[in-house]
Amino acid sequence: MKITDHLKNAKKTLFSFEILPPLKGQDIKSLFGSIEPLIEFKPPFIDVTYHREEYVFKKRENGLLERKTIRKRPGTVGICAAIMNRFKVDAVPHIICGGFSKEETENALIDLNFLGIDNVLALRGDNIKSEGSFVPEPDGHKYATDLIEQVKNMSQGMYLDDDLQTAVPANFCIGVAGYPEKHIEAPNLKTDLKYLKLKQDLGADYIVTQMFFDNKKYFDFVNKCREEGITIPIIPGLKPITTEKQITVLPSIFHIDIPEELSEAVEKCKNSDQVKQVGVEWSIQQSKELAKFGVPCLHYYSMGKSDSVKQIASALF
Ligand SMILES: Cc1cc2nc3c(=O)[nH]c(=O)nc-3n(C[C@H](O)[C@H](O)[C@H](O)COP(=O)(O)OP(=O)(O)OC[C@H]3O[C@@H](n4cnc5c(N)ncnc54)[C@H](O)[C@@H]3O)c2cc1C
Repeated sequence: MKITDHLKNAKKTLFSFEILPPLKGQDIKSLFGSIEPLIEFKPPFIDVTYHREEYVFKKRENGLLERKTIRKRPGTVGICAAIMNRFKVDAVPHIICGGFSKEETENALIDLNFLGIDNVLALRGDNIKSEGSFVPEPDGHKYATDLIEQVKNMSQGMYLDDDLQTAVPANFCIGVAGYPEKHIEAPNLKTDLKYLKLKQDLGADYIVTQMFFDNKKYFDFVNKCREEGITIPIIPGLKPITTEKQITVLPSIFHIDIPEELSEAVEKCKNSDQVKQVGVEWSIQQSKELAKFGVPCLHYYSMGKSDSVKQIASALF
């Protein structure tokens, strides 16, 4: 079922979450173990992230360094199929521009369609860590907007090969990313919103936001989006703080602010359990206020650990 239909049919705020594929070499059991405790809160969908390849340098016998390409977290498509099969919940694979030619994207979308997956979150994807900026494949997409166009074309039966005159449409519901504190590369929020509006105009059906810890940022963002003519649902993404380190790491990775009150509460903690509890309580307060505001769904970045998200969901759903 499409996410937009889940949202339309909902009688109250929905609960959903995002998971990461396990590191290569690990089995899927621990992932199932982190999903199982959250199923009682009836998530209509679970997002599965996509992780592109990375470069590592390995020392050869002759002492020279050899550059190798490795993918640390493969398996997004298989995990989506396994989730749908085991939990009877819609899985939303993230699809990215990075590392994919248009042809590879088309083939991946065909696989998803054959698996009965109705939704994708269409993203540009992060740059490879050792590359300073995002580098598209020679025959790949540069921006999420280009990827949306390709997915939308397939929804109208338009594949890359013009000779395919009677191709069956692969009709996906398309989610996209939005940034209440603006995307790191955008010169300002106004410009970022111009491209977010373009994503809607090209066929995006809903937005999931980057994490934020101050609801005012989300409320302002929604207001500005509406002023720009962005009318599609905007699902807030929330991450409970689980370690003291995240107070400094999250802002540097995601270009977001941690409110003073939250960082001070974490600083006062005497052990890691107390930090987790502060994270849970902060997230519960955020969630309650957002639910009262009438958000369609509360979406949690579980990062593969269910205990904090379970505590939050128990207080809300
Ligand atoms: C909810 C969520 C889930 C995510 N999941 C993943 C994941 O699974 N895997 C992963 O690798 N990364 C993931 N990311 C991270 C994301 O890929 C990065 O933030 C990436 O840097 C930008 O992706 P985007 O889709 O927002 O890019 P875009 O929408 O392409 O935007 C990138 C930048 O270009 C600008 N821009 C957009 N369109 C155009 C255009 N047509 N012309 C000129 N400028 C333009 C934007 O303002 C922005 O500054 C996720 C992010 C979010 C918020």
